[in-house]
Amino acid sequence: MTATSLMTTYQPLDLGFVKGLGTRLWDREGREYLDAVAGVAVTNIGHSHPRLVSAICEQAGLLLHTSNLYSIDWQQRLAQRLTRLSGMDRVFFNNSGAEANESALKLARLHAWHKGIEKPLVVVMENAFHGRTLGTLSASDGPAVRLGFHELPGDFIKVPYGDLALLHSIARSHGQRICAVLMEPIQGESGVQLPPPGYLKAVRDLCKRRSWLLMLDEIQTGIGRTGQWFAFQHEGIVPDVMTLAKGLGNGIPIGACLARGKAAELFTPGSHGSTFGGNPLACRAGCTVLDIIEEQGLVANARQQGERLLARLRAELGDCPQVLAIRGQGLMIGIELRQPVRELALIAARDQGLLINVTRGKVIRLLPPLILDEQEVEMIVKGVCGVLQPERTGVMAKGLQSGTAIASMSV
Ligand SMILES: *Cc1c(COP(=O)(O)O)cnc(C)c1O
Repeated sequence: MTATSLMTTYQPLDLGFVKGLGTRLWDREGREYLDAVAGVAVTNIGHSHPRLVSAICEQAGLLLHTSNLYSIDWQQRLAQRLTRLSGMDRVFFNNSGAEANESALKLARLHAWHKGIEKPLVVVMENAFHGRTLGTLSASDGPAVRLGFHELPGDFIKVPYGDLALLHSIARSHGQRICAVLMEPIQGESGVQLPPPGYLKAVRDLCKRRSWLLMLDEIQTGIGRTGQWFAFQHEGIVPDVMTLAKGLGNGIPIGACLARGKAAELFTPGSHGSTFGGNPLACRAGCTVLDIIEEQGLVANARQQGERLLARLRAELGDCPQVLAIRGQGLMIGIELRQPVRELALIAARDQGLLINVTRGKVIRLLPPLILDEQEVEMIVKGVCGVLQPERTGVMAKGLQSGTAIASMSV
């Protein structure tokens, strides 16, 4: 299908889907694919989960939207669930990740204002990705997303991800102007980069000492993806601000900015808002997603299957000359190659019935749904090996069997 009426922001593969169920998608020709992308960490409970489908349908028939001029029960309920799970105090709902980060950046400004900082700076990380609005683009790194969009809003100071010494030196040189640190607990778009052990905790301590807000972008890592509800829970810390989006609605657009302590009291009536943010449909979807993750034990499953997948990939590909590194946490896994891989993704999708994503040109990123089972872990391993070592896997790479697929789905 040609797409000439669309602006060319994406160069989609010549592959489109008409149906999804659990971990599987079907294309226009009826071919089945194992989805190890999950709409970029969105469809965490799988496609067309029957309980989510019926909750959405029921809510659509009852009430879609009233605006935030009226109280919204589902919004209150979702906020309560999220604060209990995270240890945060209050929530502001948005419609996307970038918007949730804009909310966080506005909290940082208000924090600075209350502290009497005239020209506040927010510390951000090299290779970060926080969204495509002008503000979040400014907080993001790399020519791929920033080229041509100058002059971007300033007020950010960038440090290398994981470099504690440099962060301390920035604190000494610019400490009086800094009001917050915004960072991903694991960098997603830049190729699944994990900080060195202890880094997050050290940043937490520094922020506390300096009364800077620690703002964690958990848009990709949150909602069970890494084997904890939120990635910061691996580190035994709590941020002052956290943003969520992607997996929270499983495909219904929703974002959230959560805050704790004084940061949770910064917004006052009229100081921030959203027409759609937190509407009954999105919030009911969010509540239902959390129910399903809890009842099916999907956070633990993400941890277990993630460990299995990482170990199996290392066992099969550890000695593969093209592979530079295999890393990840839970079901967020990156395989960094020596050569760029865009074509390989296409080949993998077409020939092996497996959908994988490539980021920063050289990193195969696996973000399968959290309902993944053992057999599907093996399918992914086979598929990725088929792409990287076709001579070793041979005929094995010729398509997944249909049928087994649905039977093994854990809904
Ligand atoms: C996807 C993503 C965003 C942007 O979310 P949108 O919903 O596309 O605006 C921001 N931060 C991180 C870490 C992301 O992965």
